[in-house]
Amino acid sequence: MATRYDAIVIGAGHNGLICAAYLSKAGRKVLVVERRSIIGGATATEEVWPGYRVSTASYVMSMMQKKVIADLELPKYGWKMIPMDCLFTPFEDGRSIAMWGDHRKTQAEIAKFSKKDAEIYPVFEAFLEDSAKFVRKMLFMTPPNPTSRKLRDLKSMLQHANAVRKLGTKIFRIADLMTMSVSEFLDMYFESDQIKVVKAYYGSIGTFLGPRSPGTAYVLLHHVMGDLGGAGGWGFMKGGMGAVPQSIAGCATAHGCEIRTDAEVAQILTENGRVTGVALQSGEEIFANTVVTGADAKTSFLKLLDSKQLPSDFVEAIQNLRTFSTAFKINLAVETPPAYKAFKAEQVGVDYPSYVHIGPTMEYLERAYDDAKYGRPSTRPFFTPCMPTIVDPDLAPPGKHIINIFGGHAPYELKDASWEQEREKFADRVLDVFEEFAPGVKDSVIERQILMPPDLERIFALPQGHIFHGELSLDQLAFMRPAPGYADYRTPIRNLWQCGSSTHPGGGVMGMGGHNASREILKGW
Ligand SMILES: Cc1cc2nc3c(=O)[nH]c(=O)nc-3n(C[C@H](O)[C@H](O)[C@H](O)COP(=O)(O)OP(=O)(O)OC[C@H]3O[C@@H](n4cnc5c(N)ncnc54)[C@H](O)[C@@H]3O)c2cc1C
Repeated sequence: MATRYDAIVIGAGHNGLICAAYLSKAGRKVLVVERRSIIGGATATEEVWPGYRVSTASYVMSMMQKKVIADLELPKYGWKMIPMDCLFTPFEDGRSIAMWGDHRKTQAEIAKFSKKDAEIYPVFEAFLEDSAKFVRKMLFMTPPNPTSRKLRDLKSMLQHANAVRKLGTKIFRIADLMTMSVSEFLDMYFESDQIKVVKAYYGSIGTFLGPRSPGTAYVLLHHVMGDLGGAGGWGFMKGGMGAVPQSIAGCATAHGCEIRTDAEVAQILTENGRVTGVALQSGEEIFANTVVTGADAKTSFLKLLDSKQLPSDFVEAIQNLRTFSTAFKINLAVETPPAYKAFKAEQVGVDYPSYVHIGPTMEYLERAYDDAKYGRPSTRPFFTPCMPTIVDPDLAPPGKHIINIFGGHAPYELKDASWEQEREKFADRVLDVFEEFAPGVKDSVIERQILMPPDLERIFALPQGHIFHGELSLDQLAFMRPAPGYADYRTPIRNLWQCGSSTHPGGGVMGMGGHNASREILKGW
């Protein structure tokens, strides 16, 4: 007789695995089914060329919450983060700025551009850290349904209101941060474009917005939410980003969880409004009392279920989720580290900058967005060349290196062309810009893997290639994510739950969807 599971988790992304690990630790019999041949979803290390182990999608770590790392004992299963020394931004005039975890060192760098900005910097960082602390608290709280009279929602609303009350007048400035453009927000603190652009860069990544668009100040906050150490809180995972799912899977399987790859779910099975299991593409049916989907909301509710089984307003909300992506990734194998014109080791104080922003002015970032608004890939894209092999040389053959280039904007759909026509040309343009800052880099390229949003959709099942399963804008956050009334990880189908990045608090490798969903599931078990 076929095995019956307590819970089936759809998708071995890091959130699905985290949910599975918590459920397994609590003694449930859990199966994870993943469509790809490897686990991790957008958090993977793959041997793209012989001897090169590449973080094909996500590439740097900061957001994973310490509680999850401790609860699941991830270091015991291979988790190791290497904090970054500094974030290096070269400018077109040959100058540069290095930002450090140590604010005093950063202040000295900022003073090269503005003494006033150097003085205000600790105030700005303290405010950002206060806001991040508040948001970190919110990360762990299940959003209430503000229209509900259920006891759990009323209790949750009180908890949220209490957290806000405790902030005092800081909440007004946090409201600015939640709603303003990153450009206007930074104008309140800084005068120098060079300082502003380093920060505004975070407000532009992964989102189909420019630094002057309202809502981008929150995107900045989302990217500084981590507190794992390193410059800006960021670091590289030893072994690439695939070490994240490997360590979570290590914990889950140690507690009896089964993980099946090459097992794509074709349908979520239901009976009388209640979930009963899943049917795989192969035709195999697997049964369980509970199913948790770690796939994105559009896949889960519009593809794996018949929309007739769902309330029409819910279906409409999921259809209207804004997932149109303009983020791209290009992975390179190179002979030598790029020689940045603006980098002088003795001045910066590190041997080599492993984490770099190419996006030299606020206007540069905004113009990159202007192109995308009209359906064109950016003429001059902004991007982050990161070199994990500087700190983790085992990822590439001896002496060779990997560069992860992540940036914007490359619209999912182009107005007057197709990505088949544009893919190589766009990658050439990215490398042309790179060459301006690091002469010789183009000659050093051995291989390149070009991933535009349609490629990210095809390979990783990200909706329209969206790296966060949907934009991180106020209309799609907290009790609105992924749909009003369903932000508590429940779904309209009984015992069908959701735990991926489409849920609160959204994308990034932070594990909260998986953590919070498992807590809600176990409460009711
Ligand atoms: C190019 C890129 C760069 C990024 N860079 C960073 C970064 O540096 N740092 C950071 O913190 N975040 C980064 N992100 C964002 C981060 O990677 C994602 O937000 C996060 O990994 C999503 O995790 P998840 O578990 O919610 O979903 P996913 O990783 O999307 O996992 C969902 C899983 O479900 C599987 N699935 C889907 N449908 C089915 C089905 N029918 N049957 C079975 N399985 C199915 C998918 O194959 C996938 O494995 C990046 C993302 C991308 C794409």
